[in-house]
Amino acid sequence: MTDDSLLDIGSTDRFLAGLNDWVAIESPTSDPAAVNRMVDRVQADTAALGARCERLPGRDGRGDHLIVRSPWGEAGQKGVLCLSHLDTVHPIGMLERNPIRTEGGRAFGPGINDMKAGGHAAFASLRALVEAGRTTPLPLTLLYVSDEETGSTTARAVIEAEARKNKYALVLEPGRGGGRVVTSRKGVAMYRLVVHGRPAHAGGAHAEGRSALRELAQQIVAIEAMTDYARGVTLNVGRAEGGSAGNVVPEHAWCSIDLRVPSQETADEFDARLSALAPVTPDVTLAVTGGLNRAPYRKADRPDIAALFEQARQLAAGLGWALEDLPSGEKSGGSDGQFCVPYCAVLDGLGPYGGGSHTAEEWLDLETIPVRGNLLLHLLQSLA
Ligand SMILES: [Zn+2]
Repeated sequence: MTDDSLLDIGSTDRFLAGLNDWVAIESPTSDPAAVNRMVDRVQADTAALGARCERLPGRDGRGDHLIVRSPWGEAGQKGVLCLSHLDTVHPIGMLERNPIRTEGGRAFGPGINDMKAGGHAAFASLRALVEAGRTTPLPLTLLYVSDEETGSTTARAVIEAEARKNKYALVLEPGRGGGRVVTSRKGVAMYRLVVHGRPAHAGGAHAEGRSALRELAQQIVAIEAMTDYARGVTLNVGRAEGGSAGNVVPEHAWCSIDLRVPSQETADEFDARLSALAPVTPDVTLAVTGGLNRAPYRKADRPDIAALFEQARQLAAGLGWALEDLPSGEKSGGSDGQFCVPYCAVLDGLGPYGGGSHTAEEWLDLETIPVRGNLLLHLLQSLA
């Protein structure tokens, strides 16, 4: 007879002690040696459970990626991917400003919320299974990447390759406000607009000049005016630069454009509108480059994601609480989960949570450790 009872993640004290060991290893994305010390630790912890570890060397100034496979499961069998990142936005030294400590039900430390707690929850789930001598219906893959905070430039292909091999992806980013999980995300597109004008002496030949900056100023106003809150579309010009000297009519200017869209149709529509930008100044040329980086998705369009959320909601109800989601994708940024969406069902924001991410007051709500830990463990035991 098989034992199909649902396991318990274990004591919060034990979880926190292990998590604090992870937080104590500072791991800013830009410092591959530091990130690799963190990877060493996670590799040692997971290998001690009998898991098979594959370490992919870092490149382009980034740390290694770590793939951890459960000792069970058959080759080629589609399973469950638990996705986490080991890098943080915090520079070395943040530990002194936000030292590891527990106060009033909160645990503090750099990267504890975003997202060492989530990564540790995946590890603790695997540990609970191994220690109980149990397996899951599907093989488990824990993927720990090293450059999420700078856009997963080196991790993206690894994430996509693993997503292809799995039926589900559980993303252990911290839960959103009130612990809601993410079942829809806006698409994120990045563009660059380059303006080429005609230089001239500002005093001697002003009328001959065609100012790239003046043209850019008008384009920025037109671009930002495309923002349509009612349709959930925003355009942000976050950076702009131009000109060479105070007494020269500027020849060159450029700006960045961050476009957020709720659907592929709006992505295509606004891509076409940006590509069609035309100069308002004679003799000036425009060039727009870029496109969609993280594709949008909506639970409403994906029955597999809706079913995965429903299964998680029922398991949470069994644990005595109501799991909610953010079905509109509002107020959620981009996520590595979006790289998995084309290949498998994704549930994002499943990790323990607190607040103060990316600040010197980052903290984790200790009560969310058993709540989220048990939900994750029960999901891993139930997904088939
Ligand atoms: Zn994160």
